[in-house]
Amino acid sequence: MSNMLINEWRTLHADTPHQMRQDLAAFVSARASALAEYFYQQMLMDKGTEVFLSHKRVEEHLKPSMCLWLERIFDASPDVDIDALFALQRHVGEVHARIGVPVELVARGARRLVTRILSEYGEDRAQGDDAMAAVRFVTDTIGIPVEVMASAYSGSYETGARADEAYRLFSTSQNLQVERERQRAALLAWETQFLYEVASGTAARALPLLGESEFGLWLNHKGAAMFSDENERADIGREIYQIDHVLLPMIRLSRRRNSELTEVVHNIKTRAAQIRFLLGTVFERLSNLEIGRDVLTQLLNRRFLSVILARETRLSRAKGVTFAALMIDIDHFKRINDDFGHHSGDVVLQHVAALLLNVVRGGDYVFRYGGEEFTVILVEVNLEQAAAIAEKIRGRLAEEQIPLPEDRRIRTTVSVGVACFDGHPDPARVVDLADKALYRAKTLGRNRVEMA
Ligand code: GH3
Ligand code: MG
Ligand code: MG
Repeated sequence: MSNMLINEWRTLHADTPHQMRQDLAAFVSARASALAEYFYQQMLMDKGTEVFLSHKRVEEHLKPSMCLWLERIFDASPDVDIDALFALQRHVGEVHARIGVPVELVARGARRLVTRILSEYGEDRAQGDDAMAAVRFVTDTIGIPVEVMASAYSGSYETGARADEAYRLFSTSQNLQVERERQRAALLAWETQFLYEVASGTAARALPLLGESEFGLWLNHKGAAMFSDENERADIGREIYQIDHVLLPMIRLSRRRNSELTEVVHNIKTRAAQIRFLLGTVFERLSNLEIGRDVLTQLLNRRFLSVILARETRLSRAKGVTFAALMIDIDHFKRINDDFGHHSGDVVLQHVAALLLNVVRGGDYVFRYGGEEFTVILVEVNLEQAAAIAEKIRGRLAEEQIPLPEDRRIRTTVSVGVACFDGHPDPARVVDLADKALYRAKTLGRNRVEMA
């Protein structure tokens, strides 16, 4: 399929009189900005487009890239690299898929663009045979790239859907016992804090909300992915809503008359017990499933990163909160292998993985990104909070002595790049930014945290 299209593209260039190509290239280049404007007008006419196309984004990013795109596909210079042009169209299609730009909208904009170019170009130029050649050239010069984009789009769309399903299966079984105990403990911690605050007469306004506790965060993010059955999640969500928005406000209204207060507190405890029960049922059902994670570190496998990024991007856009990515790379790790042996290297990797899990909250995600690199996705944080967590990780590791076999000990450090979700609809962007920041941390001397 790709070879066929590349060949068609080559033939198109070969078959079109060079003078006409040059003429059209100059014509399009002179009008690129008006054509880009027209293209986005066509797309923005569709109601659903606000999700991924704001006017600001169109003005700042999309129009300039559209102008460049037009100039590149019409480029008539003798050394046009069709392979590179082809690769670019695939890339654009993949980005569209990640952002969720409907492929039919792009096709529609492209079709109208062809009509517009031809009608303006035809006004005082091509006649007869020339006109036919121009129609074919313009139609295919825009049509072929759009077809390439569409095929890349559906390819990555399917991959995304498959990975999503795989993550659901996977997340349901990842170290279930640990996850279950951790969330039971988180729920209990909230209850204990709540009872303490009530007993010590804290103002009702300041009582901790269950939905915003560590357990609440876990449920809304990681937990949400584990529940294949929406009803169970809805049941737990209802209990939390009752506690946070009905019962806690009642404590304020009761003016602390003891009998009423006792009743409400009792009611809250009953509901918390119900949540624990529901959670137990879910975990029970899931524990039958079995699927692997990174064998050495027990962390999430990198192939689920894109699914999580897409999910967190959606949640962030819907809720108006931000998440952050940390890219973490062990400094001079090769030396550890060289000086202490590969097995010691493995022990260090396990140690760092455990430290990461220890520092982050239950709702965050820790991935083994590759060899000695890790990615952490922190939910509902801003850049400063994320940087503080990164600094905590860096500082803690720098202070520790890692025990190795045969009673040896070793110190190591990490470099960290931090980036925060900035509203950009491409889920891969935040990790790219964090990666660039990591690179800077390395060049600035290692054992440090850099922000994007
Ligand atoms: P830098 O500070 O620039 O990050 O230097 P570095 O030595 O950490 O980076 P480099 O990428 O040169 O080396 C990474 C090494 O990690 C090379 C590879 O052999 C080793 N490695 C990758 N995966 C594993 C693994 O699973 N176990 C062990 N023991 N070593 C691994
Ligand atoms: Mg590395
Ligand atoms: Mg390294």
